[in-house]
Amino acid sequence: MKPDYPVVETDVVVIGGGSAGAMAGIRARHVGPNQKVIVLEKGHAKYSGCIARGMDALNIVSIPGVSTPELYVESNSIACDGIMDEPVNYRMAERSYDVMKRLIDWDVCFPVDEDGNYDILQIHPKGKFCVTMKEPELKTILYKRMVESGVEIFNRTMAAEILIEDGRVSGVITLNVRTGEMMVIRSKTVILTAGGTARFGLPANGNMYGVYDFPGNTGDGYMLAYKAGAELSGFEHTLYYYITKDINAPLLYITMTRGAYLLNAFGERRDKDRPSVKSMCSEDFFNHSGPMRIKMDHLPEDKIREIEELLFTTERPVTERFHAGRDNDFRTGEIELWPTELYLCGGHGMTGVRINEKGETNIPGLYAAGDTSLCAKGHLSGAFVYGEICAENAVQYAQGINQAGQDDAGLDRFLNTRRSRMDQAANPIPIEEFEFKVRRIITDYLRPPKNAYKLKRLLWWTDRFRSELNSMVSVRDEHDLFKTYEVENIIECANLSAVASLERTESRWLPFHYRSDFPEKDDENWLKHIVLSQGHEPGQVKIEHRDILRMQTKGA
Ligand SMILES: Cc1cc2nc3c(=O)[nH]c(=O)nc-3n(C[C@H](O)[C@H](O)[C@H](O)COP(=O)(O)OP(=O)(O)OC[C@H]3O[C@@H](n4cnc5c(N)ncnc54)[C@H](O)[C@@H]3O)c2cc1C
Repeated sequence: MKPDYPVVETDVVVIGGGSAGAMAGIRARHVGPNQKVIVLEKGHAKYSGCIARGMDALNIVSIPGVSTPELYVESNSIACDGIMDEPVNYRMAERSYDVMKRLIDWDVCFPVDEDGNYDILQIHPKGKFCVTMKEPELKTILYKRMVESGVEIFNRTMAAEILIEDGRVSGVITLNVRTGEMMVIRSKTVILTAGGTARFGLPANGNMYGVYDFPGNTGDGYMLAYKAGAELSGFEHTLYYYITKDINAPLLYITMTRGAYLLNAFGERRDKDRPSVKSMCSEDFFNHSGPMRIKMDHLPEDKIREIEELLFTTERPVTERFHAGRDNDFRTGEIELWPTELYLCGGHGMTGVRINEKGETNIPGLYAAGDTSLCAKGHLSGAFVYGEICAENAVQYAQGINQAGQDDAGLDRFLNTRRSRMDQAANPIPIEEFEFKVRRIITDYLRPPKNAYKLKRLLWWTDRFRSELNSMVSVRDEHDLFKTYEVENIIECANLSAVASLERTESRWLPFHYRSDFPEKDDENWLKHIVLSQGHEPGQVKIEHRDILRMQTKGA
């Protein structure tokens, strides 16, 4: 019988048209001009993803003569408290300057002084890697390149399931987020670039979409990979940021590298020792000395203007209206900072699908890059470099094989769930209210300080949420339908995060994994990864411990 949904064939399908996805699409068409490349984007690829949340620097570039990839690996390992695989991060740093040069060729602006030197800041424990970028049009530049390169872009299209046949990738099932229309894409390879889990904890302002990271990122990348059999790591690294109160917008490095003061609640200056978001979170968390504030009334007018220009154009333009609405002039007032909601992320954090230096996961034909993948704290540089690396390897893999068979079991499972969800119109709870509750409970039980009692309570709740999603939540239309898939992923991410947090019986990355019942760091037992994958029984999570991967030393 002919299916009542379109079936499309391709060589490479990229899930997520953000930083990593755009770069992957462009690169795939460049190295494989005869291959068909599709990019799926839940929003619209012209504006979607983290870039639209504010980007003022390419955080990791190893510029010859300034720094080396070796120094980056050493420095980032300190930043990651030792939980970092060296080869993956080395490869990123090694290719970072090439990516920056490519961006310059595309007219992305990296300002230089009168001697032609880039503005390079030190934000890592050792070495200078952070290159100032002043490019409000970054995302539209990438989008235009993607279109011109011949990538086929499906906007408003959410990848809902990866199909696997004979142990390798065979395609993706998608849903249109507006019409609910389903599509099957048969593909030899899948590159996962769907970001992290931004909609996870609840922001203090109570606004469900007012999160720090891009709100379309609901952990889909992690869960698509997990359900396909891939290995995940770092789910106990429950990250939050310390940023402008109520709007959750960035400003830290822009202001502090230009002479702003950082004050704690007692008026003591805290800007002297190159404070990081992590150290500010710790100061607030352990010393109870928050909220911190940024103060700039001592700065000359030209510096204030420089900061305003960056903050109100390159970063998030809406911050101008926000500060104006609060009568906040940087020449006289202060900017109050506050902790954001919890979120999971590979680029700022350490949560992701495990990949090797080729961007490969443990599933043949499945690749991952950007915040979905584990190139710890790789930021935008990690997204761009691994977007390219995944594309190169996916194209090569696709060249040598035929399309896999169709995963009929996976397709049937999906159709059954979709059908039964569409029958949930009479259920009493709107999906938005349900999401609010899920994220409130995540905040209650997963936000540090963590302990075994709280984490087990969260596991009890995730179990209950799973069944309530089907028995209590109302699905009024196709828009509600796609949200059920998002919220399901948020719940499953919470479950994995509680499992990993329970397993790591120590405290690390303070305050992000602070266990009040195990308050000390324990390198002897815990200088290793906690790796999660699907167990054999339904709902069972397989937990493994893995060593940190080191660079091969010469002659070894
Ligand atoms: C506020 C903020 C400021 C930052 N500033 C800097 C900086 O100055 N310098 C720096 O180096 N790094 C910075 N970073 C980090 C950097 O931006 C990210 O690490 C990087 O952009 C991540 O790229 P990505 O492609 O993984 O995710 P994104 O760019 O967020 O893209 C993910 C895309 O996937 C789509 N998607 C999600 N689920 C699905 C699905 N199921 N189907 C289809 N599409 C889907 C989303 O809509 C989104 O467009 C910042 C991050 C934030 C949030």
